[in-house]
Amino acid sequence: MFPCVTHTLRMAKPCTVYGEHLPTCRGVALDGERAVACEGCLPQPATRGMLCESCNERYAAAIDIAVDLITHMRSVERGSVPDGPRSPTRPGSQVIVPTSWLTADDTWAALHELAFRCDPSEPLAVRPGGTTAYGFGAQDTIEHVRDRVELALGIAQSGDTTDLHIAQLAVRFYRAIQRALAAFPLEEYSRPLGYIACPEHRGGCGHMTLERRPPLQYLDPLVYRCVNPACGSAWDPYIVEVDLAEYRRQIQAEQAA
Ligand SMILES: [Zn+2]
Ligand SMILES: [Zn+2]
Ligand SMILES: [Zn+2]
Repeated sequence: MFPCVTHTLRMAKPCTVYGEHLPTCRGVALDGERAVACEGCLPQPATRGMLCESCNERYAAAIDIAVDLITHMRSVERGSVPDGPRSPTRPGSQVIVPTSWLTADDTWAALHELAFRCDPSEPLAVRPGGTTAYGFGAQDTIEHVRDRVELALGIAQSGDTTDLHIAQLAVRFYRAIQRALAAFPLEEYSRPLGYIACPEHRGGCGHMTLERRPPLQYLDPLVYRCVNPACGSAWDPYIVEVDLAEYRRQIQAEQAA
């Protein structure tokens, strides 16, 4: 068992197991400049190819939302909600391109790179003056954009995430979707979990009050949170099944090497 692929990328928050720590953990983590209590520093193990369960869930959610989100961005023609430092025009261009279109291009570039890696034989960028590997053409219709995205998603879904590079590109793709979603929100809901109780044997309250947060809104570990105000526990949803002792020994050995 290896750590999740996010540990091979330069990421502010690579995936960790909520509530589980490395032997070297001193209970403190840095949030920017601020010291905060460490909520978990043991890397999430890769259990879906080179992806961990959290990445796999975010990747699936990104695939699900991509068509709606990208066509939404192509149709709104406006600046993003929290206005970034980014220039709203392309350098050297006479045409003012809306920020939403540039963000759509960023997500397309990430998706295109992933799909191309999965199947280089599929021609995804077509029409001179239209869609390229890096962006949609200014004249491309919503229907054309949707068709390209659907085709690329189909190819990406056939990809094998045991391939390190594909797994890395899958993470880059869901990160691009996360950033786009933050700038141009579509609703993503928290869901109450109707089938499991807050685990009493591990110190929870035993009520049916667990909630699953929308996977793309956070980069923190995906946890089930108890909404019972008297309890407020959080649980790692996946790790209970995994033999952490053996995995921890392996991580320790690699750190020592
Ligand atoms: Zn820790
Ligand atoms: Zn991960
Ligand atoms: Zn509870």
